[in-house]
Amino acid sequence: MGAKKNKDKAAVNEIKQALEGKIKQSVIVPEFLTASSRFRFKCYPGIGCFTKCCSGIKIILSPYDIYRLKNRLGKTYLEFLNEHTVPMTIEGSSLETVGLRMLDDDGRSCPFVTPEGCTVYTDRPLTCRYYPIGMGMMKKDTGTTGEDFFIKVKEDHCMGHNEEKVWTVQEWRQDQESDIYDEMNNDWMAIVLKAKTLGKVEFSQRSLQLFFIVSTNLDLFRDMAFTQKFISAYQLDEEALKKLAEDELELLKFSLKWLRFVTFNEGDFKVDQEARQKAKEKLIAQAEEEMKRRREEDPIIED
Ligand code: SF4
Ligand code: SF4
Repeated sequence: MGAKKNKDKAAVNEIKQALEGKIKQSVIVPEFLTASSRFRFKCYPGIGCFTKCCSGIKIILSPYDIYRLKNRLGKTYLEFLNEHTVPMTIEGSSLETVGLRMLDDDGRSCPFVTPEGCTVYTDRPLTCRYYPIGMGMMKKDTGTTGEDFFIKVKEDHCMGHNEEKVWTVQEWRQDQESDIYDEMNNDWMAIVLKAKTLGKVEFSQRSLQLFFIVSTNLDLFRDMAFTQKFISAYQLDEEALKKLAEDELELLKFSLKWLRFVTFNEGDFKVDQEARQKAKEKLIAQAEEEMKRRREEDPIIED
């Protein structure tokens, strides 16, 4: 019973951290929800608090969030990163990535919020989709992702909880179309959760650089993936290369699988070790340059 309580507390802390950016003044109901748990909620234009949750927040962007937003805005990765992001550290780890750059107004509003609502609604980040439900993944002893759990977030300003509409968590997830985000980010989340599990364990500078660049800029990863060194190192055949060249989503999935492999040696890759090292060096050099440039332009936002 005591062990269960501690496990529950740790898991709630985990989700509190994950949601920190989206929550200003929060009351987190310390209970686990399952996919079939029910809750009352409705958010719609015209509700008294409409868009109040879209300012003064910190939104870490997952790789799939970046992919969706940059496509929505018709930008290249570099354009999107320069115009709409700031470097951020991921709570509870030494990993750096990027978050949405808020406007420099009094409320630090999201650049995409208008009185009529979110202008990128169908491509909004996962954090915005799940709200007011938080999703976590139980950590197994290996640090890999396990079973999902959910909790409800209740903020004082959010009037959606007073509405009559009842959802199950599963219905909410379907309505918010979050499954594809979870699927695409699966390997990335596994890295983040394991990094948090390891807590104060330091990553090498190189691992941090690779994490930053692969998490944020698929164009740079693409430059490396189609070099002869990389192709030899990971023994990519013609068919695999064609798939990666033609389908950006396949490339994104592959890049995150690769990142997990080089960070924690998890996953299934056939590797030529010598060629692998050479291929990795190239990306590390690019990552180093890009991180230096971003740090000079924007201060890192620490938690
Ligand atoms: S109901 Fe909640 S989520 Fe919807 S606009 Fe209001 S504060 Fe935001
Ligand atoms: S992306 Fe859209 S939903 Fe998310 S904070 Fe900005 S305006 Fe609100």
